[in-house]
Amino acid sequence: MNIMAASDNDTPQEIDVLRRKLNALLVDARMNEDILRRFQALELRLLSCRTIMELMQTLIHYSHRNFGWDAVTMTLLDSDYSIRHLLELIEVSPEDLKGLIFISDLKDLTKIFNTALKPKIGLYQAAHHDALFPSQYRPLGSAVILPLMHHGKLRGSLNLGSTYRDRFKTNMATDFLQHMAAVLSTCLDNAIAQEALKHAGLTDALTGVNNRRFFDQRLREEVERAERDNTPLCLLFIDIDNFKQVNDQYGHTAGDQVLHTTASLIRKQIRTVDIVARFGGEEFAVLLTQADETMAMVIAERIRSAIQAHKFCPCDTKILEVTVSIGIATNQFELGTSSTREYNDKLIEHSDIALYEAKRNGKNRIVRASQLDAVKLKD
Ligand code: GH3
Ligand code: MG
Ligand code: MG
Repeated sequence: MNIMAASDNDTPQEIDVLRRKLNALLVDARMNEDILRRFQALELRLLSCRTIMELMQTLIHYSHRNFGWDAVTMTLLDSDYSIRHLLELIEVSPEDLKGLIFISDLKDLTKIFNTALKPKIGLYQAAHHDALFPSQYRPLGSAVILPLMHHGKLRGSLNLGSTYRDRFKTNMATDFLQHMAAVLSTCLDNAIAQEALKHAGLTDALTGVNNRRFFDQRLREEVERAERDNTPLCLLFIDIDNFKQVNDQYGHTAGDQVLHTTASLIRKQIRTVDIVARFGGEEFAVLLTQADETMAMVIAERIRSAIQAHKFCPCDTKILEVTVSIGIATNQFELGTSSTREYNDKLIEHSDIALYEAKRNGKNRIVRASQLDAVKLKD
């Protein structure tokens, strides 16, 4: 019997059965419409995310509220650490990326998907799923693992878990989920490209350290923070001594290599919270947060001696000796200014004057602005 068409010969009982079946279908259709609407809303949200962090937070918060998924994690292939380095460089903290698991190979995922690359849905199986759901998400009753593809290749998975054993059942349709995973993968590409662009705009291409634009922005923020929290802050201005001679004697490419190595040596001597930037040609600026002048002197001396001790070999023949001069300014020293902007300018001006003094006194040395008199500091 066709359930959709009642005929004149049908008995009232048969018509009642048909009506009930029709009602059940309508309930199903409405439920599907509601699920579709919620998936579309989630996809729209994902499409508006600009960073990986926003993507993760949207997935976790929105989906928990709207779909009742108890655990949401994402595994992402990053065999050359490039995504992790990028996130580190733009200072995204691991705390903000909760639920994101980087993997160096696909072995755990191929165990789950085999070659089919279709969603895997069903009861939670520790042997397969534990690698995708760290212990804080467990115990779980059921899970669905959705492949994330990139140019036709597996690049990770979106992992949804429920504490209920019957939440993700083997016979459940996964069309909406698959569509959402495809949208998510495109969003990931966009977010990674955006982060890379952001990083490129704030980095000096030759040395790999931050550029002046980034530094100016961070200096303003850090000075404000230091004022608010009443914490010390120091600025180092570092200039390579007689750098023009390197270019003149060994060529511009050798000069470039010396700049690159000097930047790396500086970076190795400071903490990850400190900020190093190429300020100009052969000048670097280092902002030491929560560091007083005594600590700044120790770090400056570490930088100076590491560079002096390094055997630079930019043209593969002669070993060059390179030295730097360093000027230090601190916010502990009375700068006599009112606005943050003037304060920044004063810090830069004072470290520059201290650097000039270091040059004047014979180079390869460190001078603190606080040891100079007011006339020299033009205060
Ligand atoms: P001082 O000890 O007084 O600092 O002397 P110096 O020779 O280091 O300083 P000076 O300002 O006379 O010369 C800096 C040189 O740095 C001049 C410029 O050509 C060179 N320079 C600036 N940017 C770059 C760059 O990106 N690559 C290379 N190879 N050289 C650069
Ligand atoms: Mg110089
Ligand atoms: Mg210079």
